[in-house]
Amino acid sequence: MAWQPLPFKLSCENCGWHQTFSPKSDAMMPNFPTICPKCGHTELKRETLNTPLGKMLGRLFGKPL
Ligand SMILES: [Zn+2]
Repeated sequence: MAWQPLPFKLSCENCGWHQTFSPKSDAMMPNFPTICPKCGHTELKRETLNTPLGKMLGRLFGKPL
């Protein structure tokens, strides 16, 4: 189970909170929330960012996060 180090954005569709995360390839799971820190919504939307690095890695791994 390899962690794919793609920068991504977490956003909450309930209150509008969002934050960008850029995990490093040599890091373990970064410390990102699984629930919204503002309203406690448990289903955060995760989007992989359209960076050149992200696109390149996306092609290498064949699928986005
Ligand atoms: Zn929220």
